[in-house]
Amino acid sequence: MATHTDKLAIEGGAPVRTQPLPYGRQWLDDADVDAVVAVLRSDWLTTGPQVAEFEAAFAAAVGAPHAVAVSSGTAALHAAMYAAGVGPGDEVIVPALTFAASANCAVYQGATPVFADVSPGTLLLAPTEVERLLTPRTRAVVSVDYAGQPCEYDRLRTIARDRGICLVADACHALGGRYREEPVGTLADLTAFSLHPVKHITTGEGGVVTTADPALATRMRTFRNHGITADHARRAAQNSWFYEMVDLGYNYRLTDFQCALGLSQLRKLPGWVARRRALARRYDGALAELPGVRPLAVRPEVEHAYHLYVIELDSEVLSASRADVFAALRAEGIAVNVHYIPVYWHPFYRDRFGMTPGLCPVTEEAYARMLSLPMYAGMSDADADSVVEAVDKVVHHYAR
Ligand SMILES: *Cc1c(COP(=O)(O)O)cnc(C)c1O
Repeated sequence: MATHTDKLAIEGGAPVRTQPLPYGRQWLDDADVDAVVAVLRSDWLTTGPQVAEFEAAFAAAVGAPHAVAVSSGTAALHAAMYAAGVGPGDEVIVPALTFAASANCAVYQGATPVFADVSPGTLLLAPTEVERLLTPRTRAVVSVDYAGQPCEYDRLRTIARDRGICLVADACHALGGRYREEPVGTLADLTAFSLHPVKHITTGEGGVVTTADPALATRMRTFRNHGITADHARRAAQNSWFYEMVDLGYNYRLTDFQCALGLSQLRKLPGWVARRRALARRYDGALAELPGVRPLAVRPEVEHAYHLYVIELDSEVLSASRADVFAALRAEGIAVNVHYIPVYWHPFYRDRFGMTPGLCPVTEEAYARMLSLPMYAGMSDADADSVVEAVDKVVHHYAR
């Protein structure tokens, strides 16, 4: 056990861990591998029986009437924008503190993203900001369930309903979360999930959109298949060559062997979400004792899915910058990360839309203070304790 007086690894001391701990990673077992191999030996590599089976299981897991599987979380967001009817001239309100894909999906459809600030403490899309930014051109709002905590859906749904706009949840962090007992996946008109390896369950690359509206689900199934209405299986069943391309779509299909992996992973989801919550409680308890670090606020009406465990550093208490703490923890063998650089700071948004720093002050202040600690279901209690040990060592070193 390192003590506060031990020399930091970044200054030549012994690191807390010799085997570095990543911030997130997948967990695959023999059942997952067997499920994929069985499909690789079958007749269907793509658009076969596993797709519909995975969609049905995913829909059931989140309590949504429909789930549409696509090739990535980004494709899921794009399909949701398409289904929502977002197009040129429209505005889409997006929080500034998110992964670029949450905003890019609006740009794909020719719309303009309008960046909204987040609430201090939770760093979730602020409903008052959404109200302030509404215009007659607003077509949709993207609510990002940042870190895995569902947004304030009571207020966001009221705003969307009153104004007749579409609420699209970017729930890439929040599979397995709940808001007032209702599962993520049923809280917005459309909900996008990612199946990337750092997310709750994985298919390598992959994504899903859930909705209660059968017409929107049908639109997205056409969209992911070039805009073609009759699928391959139906054509085969009807013994016909006929199909029609009714709109411009994409090839955003997810393969059968990926869906087989998704089905196998989905069985483990409840246990994995519970494990993430247990790790978060362990962090909460231990970090409360340390100077200059504060976990994000969690509202009582949510069940957090903990894709990320984010802390904010207090510059009044610590003499080091976030960059210094980041480098010191990395040297201790803890692969901390930062989620995210404000989206409108990226050159694309700066140059294309003329966006400038200062647009969303809460986001920018939070960005300057934040660190994501390792968080994934495969972490042991000892792994989590080594993170706390490293944070303890580093913040005591830098405490004023
Ligand atoms: C991961 C993620 C995405 C994109 O998902 P991909 O599957 O990598 O395309 C979008 N939004 C958020 C908030 C994410 O974390």
